[in-house]
Amino acid sequence: MVKDKFIWCRNCDAVHHVNRFDKAPVYSFVTGAIGEIPTDDWRVFMARHEGHRLEALSTLGDRKFIRGSLLDPMSISYVEVTNGQEHLLIQQTRKSISEPLSFELIPGQLIDKGFTIGIQEKEIKLELKCHFDWSGTPMSDARIRLFVEILKELVKDIKPAEVEIAGLCFDDANSSFGRLEPQFIELLLTRCARHFSHGELTDLRRFVESHVEGDDVMALILRRQIAVGRTAA
Ligand SMILES: [Zn+2]
Repeated sequence: MVKDKFIWCRNCDAVHHVNRFDKAPVYSFVTGAIGEIPTDDWRVFMARHEGHRLEALSTLGDRKFIRGSLLDPMSISYVEVTNGQEHLLIQQTRKSISEPLSFELIPGQLIDKGFTIGIQEKEIKLELKCHFDWSGTPMSDARIRLFVEILKELVKDIKPAEVEIAGLCFDDANSSFGRLEPQFIELLLTRCARHFSHGELTDLRRFVESHVEGDDVMALILRRQIAVGRTAA
């Protein structure tokens, strides 16, 4: 990952993100004509903080934590930076969709708590209902709930590190889809065999095997657990 650079004014606690748009002009439409307003955010920042104690910050590793969706420009994100001695945390926010990102140093650090594995419970229930509706032998809500409970129990034994990533989850920047491996499908169906009839099992196998690819409903959800640990300022 390319290291991001920031300038931190220790007198004002202001942060400037050094970026390639620093010297880009801003175009504005004035009565039909395009007016060019030259801007230089870096120069503006340096002039504003002239004589102050400025420090260069650069990003530390590749840890960036986005609270919310990758596609949502209003999501708050956090990035760890260093001035060479201290580890600091920068919070990136946007006050409105039309405004640029603003950066603020906050006390604290990112705490990586690893991954958890979940299932797409709501989607599975819905899909199972549809699947068995058109296949002719509807499965009752109670039977569907039972299947989901068996799957949930099974998933507790799967280690996140052993799950192959099968796709990105755009609704949540910290989640991705994981592949439910064939050995777990077999284990799932073996456990289901204690509760379901032979006919139901055949249907369940067909359902599982046809909904396991990519981000389909039988894909697992790997959720990265990162917390922003606030230390006393
Ligand atoms: Zn300043």
